[in-house]
Amino acid sequence: MGRKVALSACLAGKNCRYNGEIKARSEVVEKLEKEGYEVVLFCPEDACFGTPREAMDLTVTPEGVKALTKFSGEDRTPPIVEYACDFFDTHSDIDLFVGKARSPSCGVRTARLYDGEGNLLSDEEAGVMAAEARARGIRVLDDEAYLPKPDTTVS
Ligand code: SF4
Repeated sequence: MGRKVALSACLAGKNCRYNGEIKARSEVVEKLEKEGYEVVLFCPEDACFGTPREAMDLTVTPEGVKALTKFSGEDRTPPIVEYACDFFDTHSDIDLFVGKARSPSCGVRTARLYDGEGNLLSDEEAGVMAAEARARGIRVLDDEAYLPKPDTTVS
């Protein structure tokens, strides 16, 4: 049986980012397919809140780390966890999770964490859906760890 990868849909060109911008990385999809993976796309935020939507940040609260909308402070954690659980229950044969780097939902080791005053505490956190994948023992990678972006620095 073939291998299956769960991939952030925005990397495959879906305009599901909070502001509707497209930030595809077709080379990531191509590499996964070349390696024999069947690609299963997901986007918890688009499914739960639609596009466009208010951006959110991982924030430390008295109740633990939550995904809060930037301006209205709404807690978006529970619907994302529910989406992630449904997704991984439905696709129980996922071998690899490749999430969009720095996303508070999909980032694996690159999501930013803030305190209640908006001060950056860490930029090495797992987003809400990535954390669920990892908790289930799925191999997890940021897209930029799976396939680094070319170095555009001119020396
Ligand atoms: S990073 Fe994740 S939540 Fe954000 S647009 Fe991409 S798939 Fe959706």
